[in-house]
Amino acid sequence: MENSVLNYLESTARKFPDKLAISDGTLEITFSEWRHRALCLAEMIQSKINKKHCPILIYLPKSTNTLISFAGVLYSGNFYTPTDIRFPFHKIEGVLSCLQPELIISDHKSAAKLIENGISEDNILFLEDVDFSKEVSADKFLNTIIDTDLAYVFFTSGSTGVPKGVAITQRSIVDYIDWAAKEFEIDEHERIANQAPFYFDNSILDIYLCMSRGATLYIVPEMFYGFQAKLLAFLEEKEITFIFWVPSALVGSANSGLLERFHLQSIHKVLFCGEVMPNRHLNIWRKVLPEAVYANLYGPTEITDVCAFFRVSRPFADDDPLPIGNACRNTEILLLDDENQRITEQDKMGELCVRGTSLAVGYYGNKEKTNEAFVQNPLNPYYDEKIYRTGDLAHYNEFGEIMFDGRKDFQIKHLGYRIELGEIETAILSIEGIDNACCLYDTELQKIIAVYQSSSHIEGLEIKKLLLQMLPKYMVPSEFQDVDQMPYNDNGKIDRKQLKAQFIQ
Ligand code: AMP
Repeated sequence: MENSVLNYLESTARKFPDKLAISDGTLEITFSEWRHRALCLAEMIQSKINKKHCPILIYLPKSTNTLISFAGVLYSGNFYTPTDIRFPFHKIEGVLSCLQPELIISDHKSAAKLIENGISEDNILFLEDVDFSKEVSADKFLNTIIDTDLAYVFFTSGSTGVPKGVAITQRSIVDYIDWAAKEFEIDEHERIANQAPFYFDNSILDIYLCMSRGATLYIVPEMFYGFQAKLLAFLEEKEITFIFWVPSALVGSANSGLLERFHLQSIHKVLFCGEVMPNRHLNIWRKVLPEAVYANLYGPTEITDVCAFFRVSRPFADDDPLPIGNACRNTEILLLDDENQRITEQDKMGELCVRGTSLAVGYYGNKEKTNEAFVQNPLNPYYDEKIYRTGDLAHYNEFGEIMFDGRKDFQIKHLGYRIELGEIETAILSIEGIDNACCLYDTELQKIIAVYQSSSHIEGLEIKKLLLQMLPKYMVPSEFQDVDQMPYNDNGKIDRKQLKAQFIQ
């Protein structure tokens, strides 16, 4: 096993130096260019900070340059955190205050927002300033990297409004990628259409399959997801062979009714992960591309994207649930009951817990949250061994496959994004004149509903306007309901059941 993802880039750049590695429609680079540019950037990072094992924030539009920056940060011996430049600064601030990055990599256009908000230019490395004409040797960087070094920290929604930074090591990525490449027979002929944002862990598979196997990565322009004809024309034109998308994106294409109008026969692997994939929409894809391999991958960011998978190997009715299958290689899944006993029998629901190399080392700078979710394996009293408690509920079906049953808490998946309803509630409660707030999710209509109590009778529209300055657009509720008095249950907590009955059909 490689001890760093950079060994992937080293060997792929040797094997396929002139092959197209990444295309974002504007900048196309080969594997040798990827390596060369990353090394030049690493040199500049080191000249600026002269430190290793430090967090570096990537503040760039989704582009080829972002992937050059990831590799540059890793060569420099540091680890990266990508973010979305469209997020309101309030959200970025949360990340900055937890991460305390040693450096921010950006470009002049994107960095304007940071500078306006008081970030010093001295803390920013502008890509325009990197000297790409130099020859930089990789050896001095590679010799010091070990597999337990962090590669990235990805931030996810935190229930109290404080984001959680999931810290992943080089070893966990390599373990994941080597499994996936073998399982799905990925080689240099693969042409990947990347949908996942680079701050979302589904992108890890796209990026590192490309880097490790010499596949080509086509970054799909994000606006295409609102224009199915353009999206499907893109897949046809680039002769895409492999997609690993969030189900919402696949559902969008299935609903468009356009799948059959395009020549998509080159797509022979359709993988998805991140939320429930409805069979009704999957069946539309299966009908149009009957020869393709379909797989439902399951996992949270905290276990390096995926810990279980199901190859769709039999027919399913439109209203059947799709299994999430069984554990990936080198991973064990434990279904634990309320007494922390292992469930092996059929149909009994428990919490899905995971052990293995895929586990994150915890939440960056947050021991308390780390200790809540990454706990001693209750089945092993003999030595230190962590499992990750996902908070997901699941059971075994008659084939011994794991079936996903929803959440124990108030975390939701909305349009593929992981959201803690508590984070939205915290933002609403920070608005002056709001006395109480509770968010609900209407799974059927895919909308977030904010129920609030306000003695000063603030209008929903006003709250929405203020929320847009605090939260990413996808987290802002689309419906606001004001109530005179929040209902409470016997435990003194907001009675969500009653609110659901009142506001969700
Ligand atoms: P994230 O950390 O954004 O990847 O979100 C992880 C959560 O998404 C999991 O804990 C599940 O609740 C949900 N999830 C991921 N994959 C699947 C899947 N294949 N089917 C159903 N839910 C999923």
